[in-house]
Amino acid sequence: MDCLFCKFVSGEISVNKLYENKDILAFKDINPQAPIHFLIIPKVHIPTLNDLEKTNIALVGQLSLIASKLAKEYKISENGYRTIMNCNSDAGQTVFHIHLHMMAGRRLKWPPG
Ligand code: 5GP
Ligand code: ZN
Repeated sequence: MDCLFCKFVSGEISVNKLYENKDILAFKDINPQAPIHFLIIPKVHIPTLNDLEKTNIALVGQLSLIASKLAKEYKISENGYRTIMNCNSDAGQTVFHIHLHMMAGRRLKWPPG
């Protein structure tokens, strides 16, 4: 399977890890849209939110839990941050392995463009 994020998980392509456990990996986005822009991914390959199954519920919960852990570690929990997951073309998804974006360090606009 030709999936960039699976290659990060397997180690075929190296990535600077911010956090890792047996289920989850977090790393910096290569093209940051804010001073802090992290990606938090499950290690298992799930292409889009549409492919989620009940067995993945805990995994998706973990993505948010890790975001809140990283927020404390990077001292952005009080000022705030945004987490977002894009699904398919209208949302601008470009990597088809689900990932939670975590952005902070500037006043983020709402609604997003
Ligand atoms: P999407 O548009 O699918 O929601 O987000 C994909 C994200 O992956 C983009 O923000 C993009 O900058 C990031 N990305 C794409 N290729 C790489 C890469 O090789 N390394 C890292 N760290 N991030 C990447
Ligand atoms: Zn994958």
